[in-house]
Amino acid sequence: MKDFAKGFYLSKEWRRVRDYIFKRDAGICVKCGEPGEIVHHKKPLTPENISDPFIALGEDNLELLCRECHGIEHSEDMPTDKGLMFDEEGNLVERSKGL
Ligand SMILES: [Zn+2]
Ligand SMILES: [Zn+2]
Repeated sequence: MKDFAKGFYLSKEWRRVRDYIFKRDAGICVKCGEPGEIVHHKKPLTPENISDPFIALGEDNLELLCRECHGIEHSEDMPTDKGLMFDEEGNLVERSKGL
């Protein structure tokens, strides 16, 4: 977890929204249908947008993911070209669409 987001993830508002997204998505990862664990920001939080409730707490920007799919989403933060990702063996491969 990034430092600037620590206080946010401890806030009452976030906990409430996170619970809401868990229920909305029925406890299931929206990508693969496995049990969901992590409420993910589709548009990633930054120090600039973390105080914007539509980004930080907006249900349109949030989805429930399992640990695996969440890791895949965040591999976009790595310095790879868009459309590329690392597979389990660490090889750079084309991101498969529609996971
Ligand atoms: Zn998943
Ligand atoms: Zn995330």
